[in-house]
Amino acid sequence: MPDPVVDLRSDTVTRPTRAMRAAMFDAEVGDDVYGEDPTVNRLQERVAHLLGKEKGLFFPSGTMCNQVAIATHTRPGQEIICDRDCHVFNYERAGASHLGGVQLHPLDGRHGVLSAQQVCSAIRPIELHEPPTGLILLENTHNRGGGTVYPQDVIAQIAELARAAGIPMHLDGARLLNASVASGHSPAILATPFDSVYFCLSKGLGCPAGSVLAGRADFIAQATRLRKAFGGGMRQVGFLAAAGLYALDHHIDRLADDHRRARQLAVHLRALNAFDVELDAVHTNIVMVDVRADFTAAAVAAELAAHGVRVSVFGPRRLRLVTHLDIDDAGVEWTIAVCKRLYG
Ligand SMILES: *Cc1c(COP(=O)(O)O)cnc(C)c1O
Repeated sequence: MPDPVVDLRSDTVTRPTRAMRAAMFDAEVGDDVYGEDPTVNRLQERVAHLLGKEKGLFFPSGTMCNQVAIATHTRPGQEIICDRDCHVFNYERAGASHLGGVQLHPLDGRHGVLSAQQVCSAIRPIELHEPPTGLILLENTHNRGGGTVYPQDVIAQIAELARAAGIPMHLDGARLLNASVASGHSPAILATPFDSVYFCLSKGLGCPAGSVLAGRADFIAQATRLRKAFGGGMRQVGFLAAAGLYALDHHIDRLADDHRRARQLAVHLRALNAFDVELDAVHTNIVMVDVRADFTAAAVAAELAAHGVRVSVFGPRRLRLVTHLDIDDAGVEWTIAVCKRLYG
């Protein structure tokens, strides 16, 4: 059994490398609530440039980026168009309704991808009874969708509708750099149709914490006020920003290795009788594995854990495996060998 175990539950489980820790240790810091942390300022400028936006703003988590973006774009009583499987609808403790005072209008996407027609019919008419549509929120890559990359032409069509209706667009780009590496489009190209976008440093990029939101200067000024209200104003946080800068230098291109390993897992697990994997939907570092009728996902996950492989249960019959910085070829080969032995 490998030591440590092969932990495929999420790309959030990565621990900072020795070199990243060294960069953090040496960070120049100041009080970021006063705007005086030089490392945070450098990271925010760097991310704004990378995403083709005017300004960036550092946050402790992706959830806070989404919630502050929602509260900045909308007014209470409005409605947000999103996909039913999206993170904001499923994993943010209904923050949009109790912090932002807005309701979500979830639509049934395919692997998390909505069509322009779906969005078009969901935009509310300006009318006495209906809640006004205040925001369109998309997710790229799509987590519950299985790490799917949103087709950029579909995003362009949706953005066209949004512009015509005067509705802002926010991108939950927790794994936007995975989408960029997989599609070959630059992060700025992927971000262009959106008024606001963020990505997580704490996932495939391997940082201990942090996300950066980007948008126009006036949007970021208002988001900075709300970040304070939400308790996200931090002080000498340049230690975390230094990890982010290190990751942007060293951990983007290697995401392609995570994608290659995810595909390798998908191909080999799909070949086993107990499992089914929709190969066409494996675009990046996430593999959704459906277990066949005589198994349950929970039982399979427990058995794999007993053999040194940790995976997430994503439904009664669904497992999620995620490759990341701390998963090497040996870990992937061990996982495939264990699955073959138990379920081949
Ligand atoms: C991880 C994730 C987030 C934010 O998660 P935090 O743990 O709050 O950083 C948001 N959206 C998606 C799609 C995610 O996968």
